[in-house]
Amino acid sequence: MDTAPAVRQETPSGDAVTALESAVDGPVLLPGTDAFAAECAGFNLLVVHRPAVVVGATGPQDVQAAVRFAVQHGLPVAVVCTGHQPFEPVQGAVLITTSRMDAVEIDVPARTARTGAGAVWQQVVDAAAPAGLAPLNGSSAKVGVTGYVLGGGLSPTLGRTYGWAADHVRAIEIVTADGELRRVTATAEPELFWAVRGAKGNFGVVTAMEIDLFPVSTYFGGGLFYAGEHTEAVLRAYREWITTAPDELSSSVALLRLPPSPEVPAPLRGRLAVHVRVCFLGPAVEGERLVAPLRALAPTIIDTVMPTPYRAFASVHQDPVDPVPLRMRNALLTGLTDEVVDALVAFGGPGSGCGLTVLEVRHLGAALARPAAVPSAVDARDAGVSVWGAAIGPAEATAPAIAQLDRLITRLRPWSTGRRYLNFMSGADGAECAYTAQTYQRLRTVKRAYDPGNVFRLNNHNIPPA
Ligand SMILES: Cc1cc2nc3c(=O)[nH]c(=O)nc-3n(C[C@H](O)[C@H](O)[C@H](O)COP(=O)(O)OP(=O)(O)OC[C@H]3O[C@@H](n4cnc5c(N)ncnc54)[C@H](O)[C@@H]3O)c2cc1C
Repeated sequence: MDTAPAVRQETPSGDAVTALESAVDGPVLLPGTDAFAAECAGFNLLVVHRPAVVVGATGPQDVQAAVRFAVQHGLPVAVVCTGHQPFEPVQGAVLITTSRMDAVEIDVPARTARTGAGAVWQQVVDAAAPAGLAPLNGSSAKVGVTGYVLGGGLSPTLGRTYGWAADHVRAIEIVTADGELRRVTATAEPELFWAVRGAKGNFGVVTAMEIDLFPVSTYFGGGLFYAGEHTEAVLRAYREWITTAPDELSSSVALLRLPPSPEVPAPLRGRLAVHVRVCFLGPAVEGERLVAPLRALAPTIIDTVMPTPYRAFASVHQDPVDPVPLRMRNALLTGLTDEVVDALVAFGGPGSGCGLTVLEVRHLGAALARPAAVPSAVDARDAGVSVWGAAIGPAEATAPAIAQLDRLITRLRPWSTGRRYLNFMSGADGAECAYTAQTYQRLRTVKRAYDPGNVFRLNNHNIPPA
């Protein structure tokens, strides 16, 4: 059993909090106020943080002051941007919120974006679009850039063409446990640069990043929705279809059980539907040819696949944007075999009683399988597909569905790479699930060098110092 060095914990005195207030520009919030509750709330309604104090950081100096304050008072530090990732609620910590640090600057000649810690994907996409450029964003407009990229960054639109977002970072500015603001790159503190890109908030609070942009302004894509009775036919056709997919084609298929509520499109309300998501970066005529076999296999109830400006990337998946109670699990598989399809159909098909809101198979490979030019800690290159399931609803109501999902993941073990994808892991998964033993040991060594007291141990998949 790993043990971190003991950390003294105390409740900061009123004088100490006053001193913190004078050291930061942003709000310092204590329990018991509406402002505190609002600052602790995020996208996932199941996660209600109860820190000792919240610092609403406005810049790197605020982050430094908050980290130094925490260390001085023996408190752990947690960081939240949008609250999309499900973790155990933080208690008795200094919680740093980054949503105010959301500046985005585009350097067109360098093809990079400088993103503040609080930026979300739609902001970066909108800022880059006028120059005909795009980042390696995720499926949702409102997911935070920093957490996504540091967790690997699996883009459902550009991933197979360009690779992991964590592999395409030029520089990271980060406040470490000693309160120092460091600018780390491939040549400046390269071990820390390697570790942060793939192991997230374990090493400090990132205040800004410089990320690569790619020459993409439109895509041919969207979603094909089929009635649930076609689940098996669609999954089998999808399995076949991806075997010849070019690198310019990123895709996934999801079994959806959406609620019968007015914000859900009428044909999908309260019923099982199969959603094939497509993003092709080549000519539309070629896209039409690629998608034709999917269109022919069964009648679609909605078809949004067409040439689309890149700014509308979020319409490919149509993730929820308003806060929801969400739990999730993930497995990385070497490929989508017939046996895996059998297991998915039995688990999630019509009449299965599956209680998940979404069960997704995302196609990996192509650039996602290639080594990075500047190696990162992302350890998912041997995966052919990701299987990700999520249940939306109160914890008691979704517990049976999550238990079913755990059983499915156990059943899929013969095809597993042996690891999970950090950004899709449940809060309960240990960090070691995401890495080979060698990578995990190397991460623990970096952790010992930069955070020997494990100050950054909450609200992340914690890597204990070696
Ligand atoms: C609807 C939805 C769609 C998603 N789609 C994708 C997808 O397509 N591809 C993909 O790869 N992932 C996806 N994810 C997962 C998502 O990328 C991760 O949950 C990510 O960590 C969310 O970051 P956040 O800032 O929005 O959330 P938060 O919960 O605020 O942050 C998550 C974690 O990131 C770390 N972190 C955040 N900011 C900092 C910082 N400044 N410094 C250090 N650490 C920090 C912390 O450990 C924090 O707990 C999706 C999640 C959801 C809910």
